[in-house]
Amino acid sequence: MTKNFIIYGYPGAGKTTQIEMLKKSGFRFFHVAVGKLLREIAADDTPLGRKVKDSMASGELVDEDFVLRLVKDTLRTADRNLPIIFDGYPRSMNQIRGMEEICREYGLDIPTLVCLKITKEEAVRRLTDRRICSVCKENFSFTELPDKEKCLKCGGKLIQREDDKPEAIESRFDLFDLQFGVIRHHYQSLGKYVEIDGMKSEDEVQEKIISLVRPI
Ligand SMILES: [Zn+2]
Repeated sequence: MTKNFIIYGYPGAGKTTQIEMLKKSGFRFFHVAVGKLLREIAADDTPLGRKVKDSMASGELVDEDFVLRLVKDTLRTADRNLPIIFDGYPRSMNQIRGMEEICREYGLDIPTLVCLKITKEEAVRRLTDRRICSVCKENFSFTELPDKEKCLKCGGKLIQREDDKPEAIESRFDLFDLQFGVIRHHYQSLGKYVEIDGMKSEDEVQEKIISLVRPI
């Protein structure tokens, strides 16, 4: 049976970058990205698309049962020869139970949770670096900016978003850590938990991920 994985990352640990690198490396896997699936549905001008779009826009969570059906439909089409990589999902014990039930029904391997971990200080250091142009919305790295005040593209004023400020990052990090505790415990008890040191360079982290997910 092909081994499956869930990739999780503490805020700022670089999960998205690592999954992009994994795709570019030529390694083939079946990627289950719930956020992306929802955005695709929301882009459709149908009653369902509008409903999903509305709940996403209002910041409320999309109905869990709906998300689970979506995951089920997606897994039904999965190529059984490829490892499945769940991207930052499931996020709660309820979602985990639902996902595991689907895996059992379809005869799929219960995934191993891989968590990219960094310290809170590092998360703050990495995430407070972002500046955004108040006019054209382009993102910049503060440390790499030649002019700390003005947008390189349009000359607009650069600002730091409220959620990129240290206090906001610290509370996001603490909330993740709190919610993650029970999830980590679940996978540890199954013997399916691996932690990767996200403080290492992007290439070293990638190498570690590849060594885990690539079938021998
Ligand atoms: Zn600009």
